Amino acid sequence: MKKRVLITGAAGFLGSHLCDKFIGEDYEVIGMDNLITGDIKNIKHLFNLKNFQFYNHDVTEFVDVPGQLDYILHFASPASPIDYLKIPIQTLKVSSLGTHNLLGLAKEKKARILIASTSEVYGDPLVHPQSEEYYGNVNTIGPRGVYDEAKRFQESITMAYHRFHGLETRIARIFNTYGSRMRLNDGRVIPAFIGQALRGEDLTVFGDGLQTRSFCYVDDEIEGLYRLLLSDYSLPVNIGNPDEITILDFAKEIIKLTNSNQKIVFKPLPKDDPLQRKPDISKAIAILGWKPKISREEGMKKTFEYFKGLSKEELFKSEHKDFSKHIK
Ligand code: UDP
Repeated sequence: MKKRVLITGAAGFLGSHLCDKFIGEDYEVIGMDNLITGDIKNIKHLFNLKNFQFYNHDVTEFVDVPGQLDYILHFASPASPIDYLKIPIQTLKVSSLGTHNLLGLAKEKKARILIASTSEVYGDPLVHPQSEEYYGNVNTIGPRGVYDEAKRFQESITMAYHRFHGLETRIARIFNTYGSRMRLNDGRVIPAFIGQALRGEDLTVFGDGLQTRSFCYVDDEIEGLYRLLLSDYSLPVNIGNPDEITILDFAKEIIKLTNSNQKIVFKPLPKDDPLQRKPDISKAIAILGWKPKISREEGMKKTFEYFKGLSKEELFKSEHKDFSKHIK
């Protein structure tokens, strides 16, 4: 019998790559998504496989999946600062009520659950690089608070189910990840810069551009997540690439990569934008035998190829969804 895995957020960026990974490893995959920020085209290549099923469902409502489940991966959530502003209530609900529903389902099915946490639990960090022991510096009531606090609650309720009910749980703290299927218009820096370069627009650097990020290519991230799921470690593990760069230098790299002569223009820094971010991945190395293999140069080349393949229409439409109808 094949192992059965439920992946929430299956039509999203990481969710769809996880679906591919588990199909490739010969699992039976049940993908779930309510398509608020996900896009069905990310998984349409799986629809004719007999090992893949899709449920269009909002996990903040009771989740019912017939039959046995071995693993659950909870990857449903808006994941960009623009989304948090557009759909703040849904962002809060999916990682709180949604996680509660999925923990209940995991308990019922005696399944192991991995939740997608985030470097945002560290907020605007006062410790650098960030190790799992750091408690973070989060503004509860700022624009990012709806995401950061929901993700912090998610970790707490997951540990409570682990300690109180003996549930098998895994917590991945995911740092900035990039690759194919990122939404071009989600406001995150990589699709923003690549989109601007392809449209011939100036690159918008927020603030002075001296804030840093450390970008992990999606294939590395997926391998780290897979290993964490199959490990026996229940405390949080950072999964990301420690290769840190300032956003200004990154903008210059994009101009070189895309062979464009775009200018860089400076825009105001969004509120609570973390000034520095870099994972300490000693735990992932020691416990999972994992570290990223793909350099930013290689990963960005592949990512650029993906975005170059999008149609003119996709490239130029600035907004393709009406979010208002989803706000409950
Ligand atoms: N950023 C930028 N220009 C853009 C989009 C983002 O300079 O057009 C900056 C943003 O202010 C942040 C960094 O790039 O410092 C990464 O932003 P992103 O939204 O990708 O993710 P975050 O790590 O902030 O969640």
